[in-house]
Amino acid sequence: MWKVMIMDKLELRHVWKFYGEVQAVKDLSFSCKEGEFLAILGPSGCGKSSTLRMIAGIEEISKGEILLDGKVINDIEARNRNIAMAFETYALYPHLTLYENIAFPLRIRKFPKSEIREKVTEVASMLNIDDVLDKRPSQVSGGHQQRTSLARALIREASIYLMDEPLSHLDTEQRTQLRAEIKRIQKLNNLTVIFVTHDQLEALAMADRVVIMNFGVLQQIGTPEGVYDYPENLFVADFVGEPAINLVPYRVLHENGKFYGAIHDKRFPIPDRYIPIIKERFSSGKNEFILGIRPMYLTVTNDGDLAGEVYVFENLGDIGSLTVKIGDNLIRIELPPGVKFEIGENVRFRLDSDKMLIFDKEDGTRIKSYEERGG
Ligand code: ADP
Ligand code: MG
Repeated sequence: MWKVMIMDKLELRHVWKFYGEVQAVKDLSFSCKEGEFLAILGPSGCGKSSTLRMIAGIEEISKGEILLDGKVINDIEARNRNIAMAFETYALYPHLTLYENIAFPLRIRKFPKSEIREKVTEVASMLNIDDVLDKRPSQVSGGHQQRTSLARALIREASIYLMDEPLSHLDTEQRTQLRAEIKRIQKLNNLTVIFVTHDQLEALAMADRVVIMNFGVLQQIGTPEGVYDYPENLFVADFVGEPAINLVPYRVLHENGKFYGAIHDKRFPIPDRYIPIIKERFSSGKNEFILGIRPMYLTVTNDGDLAGEVYVFENLGDIGSLTVKIGDNLIRIELPPGVKFEIGENVRFRLDSDKMLIFDKEDGTRIKSYEERGG
């Protein structure tokens, strides 16, 4: 007996969703492997739920194809797709106990009583709701209701588990806790999960890969580290990461046969890997770009080649945050604990040139070195 270990569990091929004139999802293609935790991330209204509902079969696919386990499912009804789904609104049956709510998907599939009991007990214990199973939804907290809704989705052996912002109504502490538990359950059971969220931290913390959307259009698919350090464009750079990445105008100068980059009037060397591509752009008349650098990749140091005036210093407990003004630009720097600054002070700093990003000012795409492009 053999098994193909890693196959595409789910594949979207050029999928579109129209609601009348509204184009909610535009030419979306991606795939998800068996046992993978994929997050769909993007701002409100970008088409995340529409995408998930098309996969689930509760919304028609306007154009394109969706494949599950290698078969096109466009014309298969929701109840025959072997997909489990948990929603943002818990959608629990108010007159049933939590136990009966969780057992429901198995009852309608006529599972034997003893097996139902076994499975409810197991999933309830994974989600820490064993002691409230005899209560009704109105008698327990939102957190318990959310866990029950997740338990009801997880109790079934489905091909794929879809979750649409299932943590959004919880407070921060509960969210952080349940986030970790969902990930643990997913990994221990090798479940294929597609998790929709507008919260970048949630997506990065939970997912193996993140699908980032904006205005119905795919922006980037990548690992959490990949989208954080190598965003494809300004949208992804800015949407991912807290505190936000610094994005400042960056001018390229050519003097005495050498290239420099400058923020306002502060010039510093262009990292070697960018020089050939910057030269090429420069010779076609482009000298203005956007520089991107995350606060954690800047360091205050007396021999830094950048300098500015302290705009504000914030103590964030474990770390500090320093905002420096260069011309009209505010640049945030993450500080180690114990360092303090006064407004108006002059500071020197440098950036980690390996982490420095350059973006095209017109179309917002990230400029890649020839090495990165594989050329
Ligand atoms: P998200 O889940 O990312 O917030 P949605 O998929 O819910 O985004 O919505 C994407 C776009 O489609 C939005 O502009 C939204 O207003 C629109 N939309 C969603 N559902 C409907 C619907 N049933 N009828 C008309 N427009 C809709
Ligand atoms: Mg939504």
